[in-house]
Amino acid sequence: MTFENLNISAPILKALGQQNYTTPTPIQEQAIPVILSGKDLIGCAQTGTGKTAAFAIPILQQLAGSPPKKPKAKRSLILTPTRELAIQISDNFTAYGQNLILKHTAIYGGVSQFHQVKALHNGIDILIATPGRLLDLLQQQYIDLSNIEIFVLDEADSMLDMGFVRDVKKIITKLPSKRQTLFFSATMPNAIQKLADSLLQNPEYVSV
Ligand code: AMP
Repeated sequence: MTFENLNISAPILKALGQQNYTTPTPIQEQAIPVILSGKDLIGCAQTGTGKTAAFAIPILQQLAGSPPKKPKAKRSLILTPTRELAIQISDNFTAYGQNLILKHTAIYGGVSQFHQVKALHNGIDILIATPGRLLDLLQQQYIDLSNIEIFVLDEADSMLDMGFVRDVKKIITKLPSKRQTLFFSATMPNAIQKLADSLLQNPEYVSV
């Protein structure tokens, strides 16, 4: 299996070559076609399996291949539990999207919001966020999530363990109901399966 076989577009293939990625990992092989088809997805995979690229690559490809409904609208939201993960995910988007004109930024707590708010004014296509800071900026009306096309909930089980589920549910009320949802979790206990059932429509299930 190659990334060409997964119908990845030329600018992204070139970026993957520059990262020295030759072969998709199992989660990428399974998840990328589902995501490109526009379906909801539950991905059972841990960090280290290549799960970030499994959602970042098809998100970049889908957004690059279709115009925004509104200029400067935020089109994809990735929610992740920690600042470290937010930065890592942002670095992944930088690497795979280097030959595209899509913009992304990461917002997280523990630092001043000043530079994050400034970055948001630049017309961000892809927003990577931790729940607390995102909710904070939403309440201050710095962010409009009403045009989100693809929503990713990353590390859902950690969100639950860290007590973020209430914040996550509040954020989801700000998203349009017509959207694609991608749900990643290392484990699928009952509470997580219930959360997934409440967020996804006819999801495909992939597991590694
Ligand atoms: P993740 O599970 O997203 O944290 O990714 C784990 C590591 O694998 C990261 O350092 C990625 O850069 C790397 N990686 C992801 N996909 C591939 C691939 N197809 N080939 C080689 N390395 C990869």
